[in-house]
Amino acid sequence: MNQHITIIGGGLAGCEAAWQASRRGVPVLLYEMKPKRFSPAHVSPLLGELVCSNSLRSNSLHNAVGLLKEEMRRLGSLIMAVADETRVPAGDALAVDRQAFALEITARLQSAENVNILREEITHIPPEGILIIASGPLTSPFLTESIKELTGEDYLYFYDAIAPILDGESLNRSIIFRASRYGRGDDYLNCPLTQEEYYRFADELGKGEKAPYRDFEKPVHFEGCLPVEEMAVRGRETLAHGPMKPVGLVDPRTEKIPYAVVQLRHEDAEGSAFNLVGFQTKLKWKEQERIFRMIPGLEQAVFLRFGSLHRNTFIHSPALLGKTLQLKKEPRIFFAGQITGVEGYVESSAMGLLAGINAARFAWGQPAVFPPPATALGALAHYISNPQVKEFQPMNVNFGLFPPLEVRLRGKEKHQALAERALKDLQEWAKDIL
Ligand SMILES: Cc1cc2nc3c(=O)[nH]c(=O)nc-3n(C[C@H](O)[C@H](O)[C@H](O)COP(=O)(O)OP(=O)(O)OC[C@H]3O[C@@H](n4cnc5c(N)ncnc54)[C@H](O)[C@@H]3O)c2cc1C
Repeated sequence: MNQHITIIGGGLAGCEAAWQASRRGVPVLLYEMKPKRFSPAHVSPLLGELVCSNSLRSNSLHNAVGLLKEEMRRLGSLIMAVADETRVPAGDALAVDRQAFALEITARLQSAENVNILREEITHIPPEGILIIASGPLTSPFLTESIKELTGEDYLYFYDAIAPILDGESLNRSIIFRASRYGRGDDYLNCPLTQEEYYRFADELGKGEKAPYRDFEKPVHFEGCLPVEEMAVRGRETLAHGPMKPVGLVDPRTEKIPYAVVQLRHEDAEGSAFNLVGFQTKLKWKEQERIFRMIPGLEQAVFLRFGSLHRNTFIHSPALLGKTLQLKKEPRIFFAGQITGVEGYVESSAMGLLAGINAARFAWGQPAVFPPPATALGALAHYISNPQVKEFQPMNVNFGLFPPLEVRLRGKEKHQALAERALKDLQEWAKDIL
């Protein structure tokens, strides 16, 4: 092998990519800027640092992130192996001793045969050679500029403003009605509110407990995508003239225009998931559940993803990346991790795994591979690289991203069937790539 792979970033994605590529006999140069330079959230010189919580979320196969973990284990993931070894008690969740976790990842990569770790900041994208960019949501400023030159200004974002996504099956259709404004079709689901319901909701929303901004996020003003709770504080009627305006929507039950409306937009063609239009929020997750369930029709809503608003460098992958995580215009360049527009530790590691496999195949002159769409890995990679996704926002893995089953099932039974199908498909696929 006379080619090597350069990886920028020794976080979760970069470490997983380095592991996968080196296992396939390709030399790796892994560049990590710490400890010479730290992002505003990183504090440890170790590789594989968890910047916030020590939980990798659910470990159950009835949850999409639990399924993703299991798929990664079966594909020989470094991050999952070390997480399992450094696990601490956390019920259904997989939580780790963060110090032991990062120490072990660093040690394994330091002693890996084909991996050379260089503690340097990369400020410009190298003009040639195979490259994986895994510099994370807080990519250093010089590299960010260089990525901007590569992708074009309009395709690089610095903040995400995410509205919650709800499971379509958990919505109360006897209250919610289907309609677009002014009778122009029926693309949206609409939750109607009376004046009394609206005031109760808006008042509670304004008082809701928010997740704190980090120091490096404070100066940012999210005008144009203001958190919905912030709008509620600005004036009691602000929401009714903003994201909850009812104009052009007649409730078929009353044949009247409601006082206010919350609109739900399809996340997928099957209608298995819907987002709350204009409801980007910084409320704590428990508060989102409590307050948004006050909306008529959402009393039993199941949240597939909670809303959020935070600093996050990510590219517009649907326009830029193929489903193998290669840059369409320059296939020698791969992106991995949170910068691709996935959200979360496990999802970021998963994109590192796929990029590492494909970069190694590229080095060997083999065709790139793509995981089956019914696997968690495939569903997530499909979401970020689907050119039909126009309003792209970072996404956690969730069952709403999976192709529908042939039979109609609900709840736990459905999740079980999705997980079984995914693991079966993965097994077939893995035969060719392990
Ligand atoms: C503040 C914050 C809190 C978060 N909390 C959670 C959470 O609790 N749970 C969760 O699931 N997800 C969380 N996330 C989201 C995400 O899952 C993590 O950020 C995750 O670590 C992303 O993995 P990554 O490998 O893509 O990036 P990172 O883990 O950030 O790794 C990127 C690495 O690249 C290095 N780097 C950056 N620029 C350069 C350069 N120019 N040259 C060389 N090295 C460079 C960095 O030092 C870093 O080590 C959080 C994100 C942020 C920003």
